[in-house]
Amino acid sequence: MEIPAPLRLRVDRDALMSNWQALDRLSGAAACGAAVKANGYGLGARLVAETLAKVGCRDFFVANWAEAQVLAPLGITLSVLHGLRAEDLPAAKAGFARPVLSTPEQIARWRDSGGGVCDVMVDTGMNRLGVSVQAVRDGLLDGLTIETLISHLACADEDVAMNERQRAAFASLTGRTAARRMSLANSAGIGLGADYHFDLTRPGLALYGGLPRPDMAGHLRQVAWPEAQILQRRHVPAGETVGYNATWTATAGTEVAILNLGYADGYRRALSGVGAAVADGESLPVLGRVSMDLLAVDVTARPDLVEGDWLTMDYDLAAASAASGVSQYELLTGLAQRFARG
Ligand SMILES: *Cc1c(COP(=O)(O)O)cnc(C)c1O
Repeated sequence: MEIPAPLRLRVDRDALMSNWQALDRLSGAAACGAAVKANGYGLGARLVAETLAKVGCRDFFVANWAEAQVLAPLGITLSVLHGLRAEDLPAAKAGFARPVLSTPEQIARWRDSGGGVCDVMVDTGMNRLGVSVQAVRDGLLDGLTIETLISHLACADEDVAMNERQRAAFASLTGRTAARRMSLANSAGIGLGADYHFDLTRPGLALYGGLPRPDMAGHLRQVAWPEAQILQRRHVPAGETVGYNATWTATAGTEVAILNLGYADGYRRALSGVGAAVADGESLPVLGRVSMDLLAVDVTARPDLVEGDWLTMDYDLAAASAASGVSQYELLTGLAQRFARG
C-alpha cells in the first residue's frame, strides 16, 4: 500500500538544466561540473545527476563514499571530496569514484594500496581540507596520477583580497604536478571571472537556484518548489490569535489555511511571520509561528482554496534567506525526507 505524501518537493528539471547551461557558459573555456553532495543539496542526488548528465555535465562531486555508491549505477564520473579513510579503501578500489586526497596520510594510503587515478585537494588559505602549497612544491605529489588538482575559495561570495591571494597561490602550482586539470571555482567563484575558472568549475548552490553573488542574478532560475496540502480551512475572528505563543492576532476576520508543512520538514521556524505561499502569483503570508509539522497561511484572498488543495511555498532562496537570516545552503539542504521528491 503506497500512502501518498501530504507534502512534495517539486524539482524543476528545466530550470536545473538551464542553470547548469548558464554556469557552463559563464565558465568560458573551462568545463563545468556539479556538486551533488548532501543528496544533491536536498533535491535528490540521483534525480539531479541524471538530469545534468543529459545536458552534458561530466564531473560530479560528492562528500563521501556512501554518496558516491548511491550514484555509481549511473556510470558518471564521481569525485569524493572528503578523501580516503582506511575504511574507504574497499570502495575506492572498486573504482566507481576517484578520491580527492587531502592529507599526506591519504596520499600514502593511496600509494600503498597500488594507487591509480586520483584527485588532490590543495589548501590555499581556507584551512579546511587539503595539503599545503609548500608540500606540493616540495614534491609530495610527484609520481601520483592526478586527474584534477583542486582548491576551494573561502570568500568567493565577497569582493575581498583573499580571493586573489588564493587564486595566485593556486596558479603558482600550474605545471608543478602531473595533474591533467586544475579546478578552483565554486558557484560564486564562477562569478569572479575567467582568471578563476582554470580547467573545471564546481558549482553547487547556483545549480539549485541559489544566488551566490548578486551579479549572477540574471542567469539563474528557481529549481526547488516545496508544496504542501491544506489540512484544514478555518475562519479566525478579529481579536483571536493563531499558533504557538499567540504571536499573530487577527485585526479583522481572516480566512486561514493550515498546511502540512513545518520546521521538521526544513521549512524553518525563522520563516515565521515572513514566509508565504504563492497561488497564481498572489502572496499568501505565513501567519504566526511555524510549528514542527504545520503552518498557517492567510487565504482570505482565495475563497476557492479548500481542504485537500495544494499550495506552493514562496521559496526564492535569496529572498527567503534575506528575510529569515538562514543561509541559502541551509534552506536547501534542510529540506527533509518527508517530502516526496520529483
Ligand atoms: C560544496 C563544494 C562546492 C560547491 O560549492 P557551492 O558554493 O555550493 O557552489 C565546490 N567545491 C567544494 C570543494 C565543495 O565542498
